Amino acid sequence: MDLMSHCDHDSIAYRKKTIPFSVIRSDRKTMEIAVNPDKTIVVRVPRYSDMDVIRRKVFRRAKWIVKQMDYFDQFMPRPVHRQFINGETHFYMGKRYRIKLVEDLTPSVKLLGPFFYVTGPTVKDSTQIEKQMNQWYLEKAIVQFQESLDRCWPKVSNLGYEKPEISIRKMEKRWGSLSKRGVLTLNSNLIKTSKASIDYVVTHELCHLVHRDHSPKFYQVLSSILPDWKRLKHHLEMSFV
Ligand SMILES: [Zn+2]
Repeated sequence: MDLMSHCDHDSIAYRKKTIPFSVIRSDRKTMEIAVNPDKTIVVRVPRYSDMDVIRRKVFRRAKWIVKQMDYFDQFMPRPVHRQFINGETHFYMGKRYRIKLVEDLTPSVKLLGPFFYVTGPTVKDSTQIEKQMNQWYLEKAIVQFQESLDRCWPKVSNLGYEKPEISIRKMEKRWGSLSKRGVLTLNSNLIKTSKASIDYVVTHELCHLVHRDHSPKFYQVLSSILPDWKRLKHHLEMSFV
């Protein structure tokens, strides 16, 4: 960074949200806005830019900024490419297991000690192994996600909302979502993270019954129900799927 640059702080109001940003002035010709993963916003501007002009420009990009902030609210680990071969590591409920492939006429998937024990007539057919494992994960997810909802629900049940139904889907960018009709959709990969992480995502989505956005009010509700959600969020972001 340019040592001669100045840094100011300011904010704009946008749709009931306050968007705080820091301004870094330096010898440059154009303005550039960056939203960092920690949701801080940095605006780099030509040295003598007028503050009103900067504010107006930030306001014009506000929709994009909010979208970026929402995106970083649900940081997704990059999916690991897997080959479904002997010895490969796979996760279930936050624990790691290694695949052990055994030829057998009957296809099956079992957890035995530190192994995912997968049998099938053609264990070299990785597409088939992947299918079997995904089916196994889905069956576990149906049970575990419902149990998680049952665990988390009592903390919000007194707020007068109807208990959501669970739907499980492959999702690229989110761990979960809550529809206006009250369907709680969970990312199927969540079954690979820990019980605490599943409960965190379920609780987060349940708080959207009260506030649909990620406003400070939403976080007030979340904090009152789950005071250490930040630790849990971090833990989820560090997990492997
Ligand atoms: Zn949310």
